[in-house]
Amino acid sequence: MIELNILKDGKRHAVTMSFDDGDRRDERLVSIFNEYGIRGTFHLNSGRYQGEHPPVRPEELSSLYAGHEIACHGVRHASMSYLDPTAILHEIMADRIFLEKYAGYPVRGLSYANGKYTESCFSPLSACGIVYSRTTCDTGDFKFPENFLAWHPTTHQAKSVEYAKNFLSAISGYYSGPKLLYIWGHSHEFERMVSWAQMEECCKILSGDDRIWYATNIEIHDYLKAQRALILSADHKMVFNPSAQRIWFTCDGEVTSVAPGEMWRA
Ligand SMILES: [Zn+2]
Repeated sequence: MIELNILKDGKRHAVTMSFDDGDRRDERLVSIFNEYGIRGTFHLNSGRYQGEHPPVRPEELSSLYAGHEIACHGVRHASMSYLDPTAILHEIMADRIFLEKYAGYPVRGLSYANGKYTESCFSPLSACGIVYSRTTCDTGDFKFPENFLAWHPTTHQAKSVEYAKNFLSAISGYYSGPKLLYIWGHSHEFERMVSWAQMEECCKILSGDDRIWYATNIEIHDYLKAQRALILSADHKMVFNPSAQRIWFTCDGEVTSVAPGEMWRA
């Protein structure tokens, strides 16, 4: 039997981070992530980069966040639940157009400014090409999202060390499918609410584990979508991969994979 229970590169579990608002302190955060091989997504309000005192110069964005993901957070940091659909379109499309100019790739992710959203936001967001959006509703668990437009994280960074330890214990038990640790926060909270040492300890605890895929938010979204799009024969002896990336799965418990555009046969 085929089971779609393995992540990219045959990894069984994933860790991702997401930090909002954009700040000069992101430089230090990125250097900690890079030192420990942790990867994440930075949700930026493009309006702040178009004023007189941007957090960093727009021309620096692609090098500052190289190896990580730049994503939307709304051009004006407006609470989406109070916007009508036309205002949502403006809030997101203006953000995408500006960020894409400097990121150099299509920007398709979002986190809700002030954590505010309603289900009526989903349709205009999809129309804007947004494929996932992170909320601020911490779940305390290690599940992948059921609905990517309401992607609830595991925990705020204030509890990052505790949850990093909990995650390692959770993945050390019996394997019942992939687990995801998703930590979010703001780099302007460092020193004020959370110490740099705490984030460094969290990254150190999570680093260098060959069971873990260290991914950006969009990489997790794109991999799971491609995995769910695999076409299986009725007897589970053939798997066609119509996507543009290699996808892993198990066949009778053995880890295997199928190349993009190819047919796997048992
Ligand atoms: Zn924010």
